[in-house]
Amino acid sequence: MMKKLLGLLFSVLILLCSCNSNVVPQIDISEKYYYMPTTVTFDNGSRGDTLARFNVENGRITTLCPDPLCDHSTECPFFGVVNYTVDGDIIWFQRYMIDDNIDYICQYDIASGKLRTLAKYEDDGYSYAFKFGYLWKYFSHNDPTANDLSVRISLSEENFDDPEKIDPSKIPFAQVGDIYYYAVRGAYNSPATEVRAMYTDLTDDWRVADGVFSMNFTYYNGYVYYIEKETLMRVSVDEEITGVPVNTKESVKADVGAFFFSNDMLFYLQNEGAEVEVIGWDEYLEEEVKNTYGGKIWRANPDGSKAKVFTETDGYVISKSMLSNAQVGSRLVVRYGCWKEKQRDGATFKAWRAAEGGLLVVNLDDGTYEAYSVFDE
Ligand SMILES: [Zn+2]
Repeated sequence: MMKKLLGLLFSVLILLCSCNSNVVPQIDISEKYYYMPTTVTFDNGSRGDTLARFNVENGRITTLCPDPLCDHSTECPFFGVVNYTVDGDIIWFQRYMIDDNIDYICQYDIASGKLRTLAKYEDDGYSYAFKFGYLWKYFSHNDPTANDLSVRISLSEENFDDPEKIDPSKIPFAQVGDIYYYAVRGAYNSPATEVRAMYTDLTDDWRVADGVFSMNFTYYNGYVYYIEKETLMRVSVDEEITGVPVNTKESVKADVGAFFFSNDMLFYLQNEGAEVEVIGWDEYLEEEVKNTYGGKIWRANPDGSKAKVFTETDGYVISKSMLSNAQVGSRLVVRYGCWKEKQRDGATFKAWRAAEGGLLVVNLDDGTYEAYSVFDE
């Protein structure tokens, strides 16, 4: 009886402690989670817009907030997350709270449940990104003549009080050793509409990797890859690795919507052209809904050779913004769209919403997939 009473007392103490954000959550840490800020109804019936994680093995989605009594609204420490990065069991994230117009930079240790606020910034026009072990604070306006300095803050050194000033006011898309790769608009006397991939060691002169008209650059094995007018192109930036002179451009694959590299292979969405299936009518946008990429993910060698369908889903609509390199172990997490009930002028109708729907988990070893309708319809 005494033991039972003690147990009860402990339970009450644990419940009381759970109001404090330092409670240790019962969460296991392993390579099976895909993290995302999302609004969903969680298993405990609560519904909120928090940083959540999706278990790629069983499709369950749970909030990172360890407090069982929390309603995950504005008071929740995981509410309003707009940027984040995960390294093992440590998560850094930026929350923007619209009421006080402040960006909070926080760190959460999943193992210990310890949540720290590292910095608070009153909204001053900067944007933020977590990349390559740094928090980058930069101006996101599009004035090509502006020469605003950005700063970067080492996440391991936490130099928030003395951030490192950095030029240009951009964030790099790739890092290879000491070299950072940037997408720069209107650089080197080119028109302001052109975006070029450029690279620098941040102390040296800038060098141009001559890609244009793209915001989606990827570095892979001595080349910068990018899509120019639906053609996947690559340009050599390292002759020692590629064996071809730098700035040599070549086309890799036509009619590509999105791409990424994994397991030394190129994965991509291929526009089906004349074969595209019309799957409905979007009454909201008043246009045909097409399954442009046929629900297929293709795989090829990095030079585009030996291309074949890697995953053929059962008609899921994957649009190009939904194929990003969201890799968890040997699985890829891809978003698909769905039909959504809409209201206009008092009438209810179904419209296609590309950004909602669910998640496909594709096994990158054999191409098999599972579909999970995790978002509320
Ligand atoms: Zn919460």
